[in-house]
Amino acid sequence: MLSDNSPVKSTKIDALYSFYDVIVIGAGIAGLICAAFLSKSGKKVLLVEQHFIPGGYCTSFKRKGFHFDAAVHHIGGCGKWSVVGRCFKTLGIEMDFYHLDPMDNLVFPSFSIEIPADLDEYQLRLQTRYPHESDNIKIFFQDFIKLYRATFNNEKSQIIEKYKDMTYGMMLDHFFDDSELKMVLSGQWGYIGLPPSKASALAMSQMMINYLKDGAYFPKGGTQEFANAIFRKFIDFGGHVMLSSKVKKILINKKFIAGVKLDNGKEIHSRVVVSNIDARQTFYDLMDDNDVDVVYRKKIEGMKESCTFFLLYLGIGKGIDLGNLKRGFYLSGSDYDSMENEWLYISVPTKICPTLAPQNKQIVSLVVYKKDNFYKNVTDWKLLKQNMITNTLERLEGYLPDIKKYIEVIEAATPKTLERYTLNTNGAAYGWAVSTDQIWDQRLSPTTPVGGLYLTGHWTRPGPGICAVVSSGWGVANLILENWR
Ligand SMILES: Cc1cc2nc3c(=O)[nH]c(=O)nc-3n(C[C@H](O)[C@H](O)[C@H](O)COP(=O)(O)OP(=O)(O)OC[C@H]3O[C@@H](n4cnc5c(N)ncnc54)[C@H](O)[C@@H]3O)c2cc1C
Repeated sequence: MLSDNSPVKSTKIDALYSFYDVIVIGAGIAGLICAAFLSKSGKKVLLVEQHFIPGGYCTSFKRKGFHFDAAVHHIGGCGKWSVVGRCFKTLGIEMDFYHLDPMDNLVFPSFSIEIPADLDEYQLRLQTRYPHESDNIKIFFQDFIKLYRATFNNEKSQIIEKYKDMTYGMMLDHFFDDSELKMVLSGQWGYIGLPPSKASALAMSQMMINYLKDGAYFPKGGTQEFANAIFRKFIDFGGHVMLSSKVKKILINKKFIAGVKLDNGKEIHSRVVVSNIDARQTFYDLMDDNDVDVVYRKKIEGMKESCTFFLLYLGIGKGIDLGNLKRGFYLSGSDYDSMENEWLYISVPTKICPTLAPQNKQIVSLVVYKKDNFYKNVTDWKLLKQNMITNTLERLEGYLPDIKKYIEVIEAATPKTLERYTLNTNGAAYGWAVSTDQIWDQRLSPTTPVGGLYLTGHWTRPGPGICAVVSSGWGVANLILENWR
């Protein structure tokens, strides 16, 4: 049994088998969960991860005593009866979470609004602020909740049929006239990566209702602890792992999985492979042309990745009061049509978990969204990084004029950095974009045309975000076990 602070490390080379029941490529959260459930059921599982730590986007790094979370800011569905809560209980993982309430603020140029971690309370606040839309708010949420439940239970139903081809913007237009209300109800679109005019209504309901119903959670000690806890459980169940090892090829014999080949040339054989990595790379880079059905490859060729982000991590020294700095989205537009504009997300994780920084010091973390084509022709990423650091700090000074004097550590990540650490193409934050033609049954299925090859994570169903990929990893493990029988 590994203790809570035992280091995460690879299985010793001489302990590895030459044949596994299942090889999981990628130790993102979906890969970890899938591997843990399969190991728990007695399967011989090997997890192969190119980075030296597990977690994918759910990792942390340390600089001068500050623990920065690389990407993930909080996690939905960690309540006792929600997906992550139930999954951890089934695996026997104990983890302390901080519950965030309010979970967010939406800061617009002329007003701000707090989002509580309580669906009824939020509805009431909206009805009080927009009394002329009170009845519409009520019936909107009735449908929105029904939609969430139907997608959650994966059931074909009338409510899915009604909304599956609708963007969230179309759904809002169907219920409301008030432009400001529509703007407020769209303010968290950054969590799924597409503005209301393009995002699927189903995807928005999955994200928003999940957060409003159960709130958002922050793992004690940071997001790496979340990944490490699953990793340790997997090892406890007898799982094997190779960190700092990249899969270069998926081995296929007569349309059936035969194993994987690593970038050092070593081949490891298995009956099943689960890919937790970028789906396009799975089928284009890790396989030969004739290994995959032409129609399937064509479908993938036409699919579009989600957006990416620029991230700024600041270690802040003693003496500055960050008490008034609101956690949440800082949106630049002042009407509904400007919802696609660039935005900033600011958080101070040390307000939630003070031990992330040395005593009396703090962390400020910023996410910057730029429009799709902003990064298209970048050739000098170093220069871009420098310019974006300068611009983002200038924006932050708008809220905290003295902040620069207190910065002790400054780190930044461009989309190239995100890509380098996770191999998600162009640093795609959420796998495929959650447009109406890439969600629900239009998103890639976890089963593939290659016998014994499964997909898990944000490139497959149900979609992006930690809670969704936990559900994906768990679901795929069950599917493999069912098919095994
Ligand atoms: C900036 C940012 C902020 C976010 N904030 C949140 C948030 O607050 N809350 C939330 O719920 N979600 C958030 N998300 C989304 C969430 O992080 C992702 O949807 C989720 O982590 C994806 O998990 P995954 O298991 O699908 O894969 P990933 O995290 O992408 O992991 C894939 C793993 O596969 C490995 N790999 C890739 N190729 C290979 C190979 N060939 N061989 C071996 N290993 C390989 C990678 O190194 C990586 O570890 C955020 C994303 C970003 C980018």
